[in-house]
Amino acid sequence: MPHSDRPRQLLKRLHSVMSGDAPAQERLDALVVEIANTMEVEVCSVYMVRAARELELFSTIGLKNEAVHLSRLKMGEGLVGYIADKGIPLNLAEARKHPNFVYLPETGEEDFRSFAGVPIIYRENISGVLVVQTKQARIFKTEEIEALQTVAMVVAEIIGAGDLIDPDEAMKSHHDPDAQINLAGQMFAPGIAYGEAVFHEPRVDVDHHISSSRQEERERLKHALSKMQGQIDQMLNLGELAVVGEHREILETYKMFALDKGWQQKISLGIEDGLTAEAAVERVQRDIRVRMATLHDPYLRERLSDLDDLSNRLIRMLVLGDQYMDHHILRRPSIVFAKNMGPAEMLDYGTTFLKGIVLEEGAPTAHLSIIAKALGIPVVGQVLHPTSYLNEGEDVIVDADNQQIFIRPIEDVFHAYSDSLQEREAMLARYAADRELPSVSLDGQNIDLFMNAGLMIDLTNLEKSGAKGIGLFRTEFQFMVSSTLPKLDAQVELYSNVLEMAQDKPVVFRTLDIGSDKRVPFLKHAEEENPAMGWRATRLTMERPILMRLQIRALLTAGAGKEIRILLPMIADISEFKAVRAMVDEELRYLENVERELPSSVKVGSMLEVPSLAWQLDELLPLVDFMSIGTNDLMQFFFAVDRANPKLSERYDFMLPSFLRYLRDIIEKCHQANVPVSSCGEVGSRPLDALVMMGLGLKILSLPPTSIGPVKAMIRSANIIEFQSWLDETLGNAHSSIRERVMQYAVEKNITI
Ligand code: PEP
Ligand code: MG
Repeated sequence: MPHSDRPRQLLKRLHSVMSGDAPAQERLDALVVEIANTMEVEVCSVYMVRAARELELFSTIGLKNEAVHLSRLKMGEGLVGYIADKGIPLNLAEARKHPNFVYLPETGEEDFRSFAGVPIIYRENISGVLVVQTKQARIFKTEEIEALQTVAMVVAEIIGAGDLIDPDEAMKSHHDPDAQINLAGQMFAPGIAYGEAVFHEPRVDVDHHISSSRQEERERLKHALSKMQGQIDQMLNLGELAVVGEHREILETYKMFALDKGWQQKISLGIEDGLTAEAAVERVQRDIRVRMATLHDPYLRERLSDLDDLSNRLIRMLVLGDQYMDHHILRRPSIVFAKNMGPAEMLDYGTTFLKGIVLEEGAPTAHLSIIAKALGIPVVGQVLHPTSYLNEGEDVIVDADNQQIFIRPIEDVFHAYSDSLQEREAMLARYAADRELPSVSLDGQNIDLFMNAGLMIDLTNLEKSGAKGIGLFRTEFQFMVSSTLPKLDAQVELYSNVLEMAQDKPVVFRTLDIGSDKRVPFLKHAEEENPAMGWRATRLTMERPILMRLQIRALLTAGAGKEIRILLPMIADISEFKAVRAMVDEELRYLENVERELPSSVKVGSMLEVPSLAWQLDELLPLVDFMSIGTNDLMQFFFAVDRANPKLSERYDFMLPSFLRYLRDIIEKCHQANVPVSSCGEVGSRPLDALVMMGLGLKILSLPPTSIGPVKAMIRSANIIEFQSWLDETLGNAHSSIRERVMQYAVEKNITI
């Protein structure tokens, strides 16, 4: 049978096994035989999770029959325990080579080399593991693993029927109430935090639907609405947050919704129909949710989710009255668990004790994530049913950097994390103390370290990090969080604030890099096959003069009497740079005509993040004031590797000779033309990679603020000229990534990396 037919064939056969009325154990036994035959494997086994977190061999073909119902593994033990514990499939050509492999003599599995297993999930809990094994060492095809996963669903159905094991046992045995549990999620905002669990209650049940007095309900609604608006105003005036532009923007939008007459009228209609105020809000909320479910545009959904958040808030206010606020008072360092949360709900908790957030849903681009990132609160999202594993008040570690959380961490884990938290804090304190030290290498090379920013709150790091200025201000954030196109005045205000907060330090404003994954709500984005290579950045803004021209005008206006630096993203052809530069000149003439004060100097630079530009440098360099190499996109296009695909993130190393030689030529050309050149991509944030950048001749780097300390420590311990000649020689005869050799060099030379 051709391989591609097997999964379909298998499902067909399983259907006939399942439709019979044989007892569960017999059906399970028939099932493993069918799987083994169709997939042409020597072994197929099913393990079930029993009480005390043990996995019991329930059925097998290929392993010794006497092991059935006898052979047991602890959760986390062996390959089967590993799958059950992590909830992920394994596909191994050589099972023995896996660090978790344990040999079970009673099963007679010594003859089998390859191993593939998938979790069996019943009601969102891992209830067992389905395994196939072969004598021959081979990797199973993706479609075969997918077929196994489908079969695992069929097995789950047998559990559901209840005559194999008690379904309650399948649910409960899953976790021991005292054991540590480690759950995976996604990183929405980086960092590590520790605290006690607090359950955010996004909604309360509405028990009373029918009102006894319309007038009373009207009053209740009016009172709750005005109280809610008062709270939003209060948040808008919160000292810490009042200064930060985007948060204001988000809350203003929020306020706009809260005042929205259409929304309020729909609620009032419900009251007139005889509903209680809370039931009326709930009815309108249901409509909002239906609309949300049909919308594909993530930004419009985000807006509706703001409205959903407001509805929850209003319902809670109506049902709980004054008790409502109590829940939001945190008294100890806390980790808040929620299905989803709006930005205002997060701010209700204040920032003193809110240490971390765990969400069942959410998205990295959601407003909550943007604000949490800016406030340094780690967020792990997309965690499956976390609250079914713990009670409020229990200890939790949020390790967003590694996309996981630990519930009831065991002592060792807790100590490892608290040590690393303390170490992190000590390190930060050390870097902060060193922030005034010059970034000069042992051999006297001066390297300028700038920081990347995108939010007003990032500016607070300028002082703390000791950065020389802002080497990249990504202006798109203001646009991403706004439901309407930010008006000229709002843009001028933001850029003026940035310049003011930066005091005399230089700031490079990059014009809008929207499109691709950075969508703005007020612009219709057609679906694109390859958005990263699509209608984005300068390609888009030049075709929408309201975007590019307005932004340039705002930047030049904000820069009155000062130096203003403008950086253009995604330039692929020199004509694009020329066109924007001409627009800058036109705008300068316009401002002159209307007798506005002009900037004291205007510098326009180009990003080099599209490979084609490297072969236009002879013509481009005389036209630009500076160049900035964006390695994030440049590597993506150089190696044809999607920067957002985690499967490929390790595949092409920055230190591959092809890329380094390419960069070296670009940097040399810029230096020959006397054009300042910097790098602003993420690779520069790792000290070892930054060392290589210096080795290639770069003298200006723009980094995330947290990387400035470590990179500066590296610079101060390195002899750059010596390293440059070593690198030249090494690159002369390199055929693969030179990372290990650089690492060895750094260790030998005592360079702090
Ligand atoms: C880059 O591409 O390297 C860069 C700095 O821009 P962004 O990460 O915003 O695309
Ligand atoms: Mg880029």
